Amino acid sequence: MTRQKIVFLDRDGVINIDKHYVYKIEDFEFINNIFDTCIYFQKLGYKIIIVTNQSGIGRKYFSQNDFDKLSEWMIKEFKNKKIEILDVFFCPHTPNDNCFCRKPKPGMITQACQKYDIDLNTSWMIGDKISDIDMAFNAGIKNSILISSQYSYNIDDLKTKNIVEDIIETKNIIKA
Ligand SMILES: [Mg+2]
Ligand SMILES: [Zn+2]
Repeated sequence: MTRQKIVFLDRDGVINIDKHYVYKIEDFEFINNIFDTCIYFQKLGYKIIIVTNQSGIGRKYFSQNDFDKLSEWMIKEFKNKKIEILDVFFCPHTPNDNCFCRKPKPGMITQACQKYDIDLNTSWMIGDKISDIDMAFNAGIKNSILISSQYSYNIDDLKTKNIVEDIIETKNIIKA
């Protein structure tokens, strides 16, 4: 058995338009090209795992049940497009909770590695915030891509050279 290579995807701003604390299906708008891009990753032999900070749960803006229902619906939408989401890991905590799973801490990747036999050397992280890139770095994933978004970053601090405007451009970077 060879170890599994994974594309880890952030959720808000990568899969769906980041409208801040999205928890309702009617507010969940898939980003253009996300399905085509995931099909491409699957063809290359990657599995897809979602890793997402969801402090809206800890802040009591919505419940874990709301999050679970939305995740179930989202996974089904992917399935309708022949895309398998292997798993969804989320951090429900607020910054004050000092947990080990809130990005940029590596806890969600650690959890994924406990559950699956993952080769971090051939895995990728795709996110739209510097904390996504930092989480990958802190977890020992060298390969990451920032999708530039509403969130600003300091290029000198960025731990990747890969910056794209649109998720579809990740195809030019992830080639094997
Ligand atoms: Mg995001
Ligand atoms: Zn957490």
